[in-house]
Amino acid sequence: MKHNFGAGPCILPQDVFKASAEAVLDFNGLSILEVSHRSADFVAVMDEARDLVKKALNVPDGYTVLYLQGGATLGFSIAALNMMRDTKKAGYINTGTWAKGAIGEAKAVGIDVNVFASSEDKNFNYIPKGYTVPNDVDFIHYTSNNTIFGTQFKDIVDTKLPLVCDMSSDIFSKPTDVSKFDLIYAGAQKNLGPAGATLYIVKDDVLGKSSSGFMPKYLDLKAHAEKDSMLNTPPVFPVYVAMLNLRDLIANGGVEAAGVRNKAKADLIYNEIDSNPLFTGTVATEDRSEMNVTFLLNNEDLKADFDKMWNDAGIVGIKGHRSVGGYRASMYNALPIESVKVLTDVMNEFARIKG
Ligand SMILES: *Cc1c(COP(=O)(O)O)cnc(C)c1O
Repeated sequence: MKHNFGAGPCILPQDVFKASAEAVLDFNGLSILEVSHRSADFVAVMDEARDLVKKALNVPDGYTVLYLQGGATLGFSIAALNMMRDTKKAGYINTGTWAKGAIGEAKAVGIDVNVFASSEDKNFNYIPKGYTVPNDVDFIHYTSNNTIFGTQFKDIVDTKLPLVCDMSSDIFSKPTDVSKFDLIYAGAQKNLGPAGATLYIVKDDVLGKSSSGFMPKYLDLKAHAEKDSMLNTPPVFPVYVAMLNLRDLIANGGVEAAGVRNKAKADLIYNEIDSNPLFTGTVATEDRSEMNVTFLLNNEDLKADFDKMWNDAGIVGIKGHRSVGGYRASMYNALPIESVKVLTDVMNEFARIKG
C-alpha cells in the first residue's frame, strides 16, 4: 500500500475505489460506463450527488448544485461571465497560480479586474491582510486554498458584494458557511471525486443576470440549472464516484469530523517541520494550509538520501511544485493520519541519522 500525498488527482477512500470498480462491471446489470445519462438509474445518481452536496455543506435554500465539465480552469471563465453586471469591474485577490489564472480569464472575457490584494511580493508565501475591499465592482473573487504555495484563508473574505470562491482544494475539508457566497466552484479531483467533474454551488439570484454579450450556452449556469445539470451528457462516472464519496464523508461524521481529522494531520506534520533542524516550512505560520504542506530541505546536498528514504517508505507525490521547490505533502480528506505519521517518522529518523 502506497501513501499518496499527491496534489490532485488524489487519494479517495479505499471503499469508494472498491464500490466504483464494482459499478464499472455491474451497475444494475450494465456497466456504469455504458448507462444512459437519461436512464432513471442515473438520474437518481445525479439527484443524490447534488443532494449530498447540500447535505454535506448545509447549503441553504435558494442555491443550485451543478456538476459540469471543464475543471476549475473553465470555472474561471464561467464565474467571470455569470457574475458580470453593469460595471463590468471585479475585485480579485491574487494568492498565486490559480488566482492568477482566474484573473487572466476574467480579463479575457472583458472584465476590468482590480487586484486589490496580492502576496506576489513574497512568492505567495502568505495570505494578504489589511486590504480594503473595493465597493464599486460587480463581485469579489478569491481562492480559498492555494494548492501550489500551501497557504489557506482562515476566514471568509468580508464583503457585502457578491462573493465568488474557487474552493477546488479545500472544499469538504471543514465546515463552510455557504450562505456567504454567491458562487462556489471546485474541480472534483481534490476532495470530491475523480477528475472530469466540476462542482458549482450557485445562488439562484445570480442566474440569468449576466451583462455579457458573449454567453455560449454551456457557460451559462442558468441553462444548466434549468436542465437539472443534464443540459448535455454529464460526466457520468465522476458524478457516480462523487456520490459514493459524499456518502462516505457523511457516514464518517461529515465535514465537521473531516475538519477535526484534517487539523490533527496538519498539526502532526507542522510540528515535525518546526521541531526538525533539517527542514523549514515555506509559508507564514498563521496562513499555513491544512491541505497542502510545503517545506524545504535546508541542505540540498542531502536531497538524494532523503528522497530515497521516503520512496522506500512507500510515500508518493511529495515532490514540490516547480514554482516553490522542496516538498509538498497534500493531505486531502482520504489520506489517513497513519500515512502522515509514516512521513513524519521518516523526517524524524532522517534528522537522527544526519543531524
Ligand atoms: C487544481 C486547481 C485548479 C485547476 O483545476 P482544473 O480542474 O485542473 O482546471 C484551480 N484552482 C485550484 C485552487 C486548484 O487547486
